[in-house]
This record gives sequence, C-alpha cells and structure tokens, in this order.
Amino acid sequence: MSKHKTIVITGGAGFIGSHLCERAMRDGFKVVCVDNLITGSLKNIKHLFVQRNFSFKKHNVTKYIDIKGKVDYVLHFASPASPDDYLKFPIQTLKVGSLGTHNALGLAKEKKAKFLLASTSEVYGDPLIHPQPETYWGHVNSVGVRGCYDEAKRFAEAITMAYHRVHKLDTRIVRIFNTYGARMRINDGRVVPNFIFQALNNKPLTVYGKGAQTRSFCFIDDLVEGIFRLMRVKINQPVNLGNPHEFSIMQLAKLVIKLSSAKSRIIFKPLPQDDPRQRKPDIQKARKLLKWKPRVELEEGLLRTISWFSS
Ligand code: UDP
Repeated sequence: MSKHKTIVITGGAGFIGSHLCERAMRDGFKVVCVDNLITGSLKNIKHLFVQRNFSFKKHNVTKYIDIKGKVDYVLHFASPASPDDYLKFPIQTLKVGSLGTHNALGLAKEKKAKFLLASTSEVYGDPLIHPQPETYWGHVNSVGVRGCYDEAKRFAEAITMAYHRVHKLDTRIVRIFNTYGARMRINDGRVVPNFIFQALNNKPLTVYGKGAQTRSFCFIDDLVEGIFRLMRVKINQPVNLGNPHEFSIMQLAKLVIKLSSAKSRIIFKPLPQDDPRQRKPDIQKARKLLKWKPRVELEEGLLRTISWFSS
C-alpha cells in the first residue's frame, strides 16, 4: 500500500478496527472510520480525532454507505465478534455480515477501491480437521446459537468472491483466529478480557466446561501486520491469520493467574452450546505468501494486555 491514499475502515471504532485505524494513520493514509458504535467505542479512537487525516462517520453499514471523494481501500471490519455480543445481537450480526458486506462491496466497486473482508475462524465451525487450513470447508451448525455469526461470515465470503468474479473487484479475505490485546472491552465476554478482569480483581476465573477446549491466541500487533501485508499482495482466496501456538482454556486460566499474581481460584461453568472443541490455524499460506508469522508469544502478549487493563 502506498502513502496518501484513502482507506475506509468499517467497524473502525472496535477492537481490531481501531488498531487498523491507528496503523493506517501511522503509515500516512487518510482514514475514514465508519462505525455505529453498537459494540465499538469512541474511546478507542479519540486520540486520532485531533489528527487532520482522520475522520469519523457514525453510520450503520447495513444502510447505504455514502463517502465523498476518492477511496482507495475498503476494509470491512464491522460486526459484533464476541460470542456474548452476537448472542445478544443475532439479527444485527446477520445483517452486518450480509447487507453490510453488500454495501461495503458496493462502495469499493463504485470507488474502484481494493476491498478486504474480515472473516473468521468461525467459518470452520467446530472443526473436524485440525489444524484448520484454508481448504477446509468447515463444520457449522447453521441453526445453532453461533449460526448467526458463522453463516453471516460465510455469506460475506461468498458475496466477496462473487464481486471478485463478476465485477472483477480486487478483493481479499482474511480469516481471523482468536486475537487479543489492548482495547478489548472488559465486559466483552471473550475469554482473555474475562480472565484478566477476574484475575485483576482476585475473583474466581470462570472456565467453561472442563477447560479442555483449545484456542490459539494471536496478539493484536501481529494480526495488524498480517492484514497490511495481505492488502499489498494479490491473493483473492482466503488467508488464515492467527498464532498457531495452541493452549487449552485451563492452561490459559493458570497462565493469567500467574502473570497477574492473582489470588483467584478457578471455577467451572457450563460449556456454551456449539463451543468449538479445538481451534488452531494452519498458517503455511500466510508464511509463504505474506512472509508473515506471529512474533509475540502468549506470555508476552498477556503481560502487555494485563498492564493495559490495569492502567
Ligand atoms: N471461555 C471460558 N470462560 C470465559 C469465557 C470463555 O472458559 O469466561 C471459553 C469459551 O467457552 C471458549 C473459549 O474460552 O471455549 C474462547 O471463548 P471466546 O468467547 O473468547 O471466543 P471463541 O473462541 O469461542 O469464539
């Protein structure tokens, strides 16, 4: 990506979106952040408001997106992404993944801009293949409680490929695996902010099920670097980005307690419906084509995140 171009980032006031806005500003882009603030927050971007090349538009992208002037890139990151959030907002989640993606693609087509879709490891559902390569078609319960997110993102991928094939739009699809770091909402419901909040308050850590389910956690800075690399190379098929180092949720709980020197104990709560039993990205494609791999290991990333939450 070259400098002095305009990027529209939908969901730019969210956790990942705000880090993308920040990185784009640092790289000299003009940034238009679009967010309806349903799960995003102005707090995440208030430090960018003072900068001349940054603008914010409060807008729900399921409605027509009207941006004046030229646009070179559209990064579509608007969506609830925490299971708690999409259980609370299933219809909004389905609408932003379908209607919102359609509008974001329409904007990119109108402006002859490059388009990048934030997809997710959830397209693999509760995977029967481990680790998950991009060629795996997934194992999703369309009518389960997570179906609203999984199917919205699967639809979003399908319509992105259709715009690429029919309208020759230059598109990218990134499948994002569990990512964590500063600016996650403390009450976001995802495991990292939950555990850190509980540990910092010496409350019991709530492990769902037996804690044997696994996830692979990627630090936000690594993810952002991967996304910017992906924009620069021409790969229209999906690319996984995530940290392939896999941990059980029980291991994560113990690590958070240790790193925050907490006196918390661990308690067990029921496993949510359709909670994937295992998840770990196969990142050979990103390694080869983007020359990318995560650099921040879990312990270091957690220490940085704990210190952000405690301040
Ligand atoms: N989890 C947990 N305790 C919590 C929150 C989550 O044990 O307080 C578990 C959850 O059941 C899942 C994993 O941690 O197995 C990751 O959950 P998260 O909500 O972060 O996202 P997911 O990877 O399921 O989309």
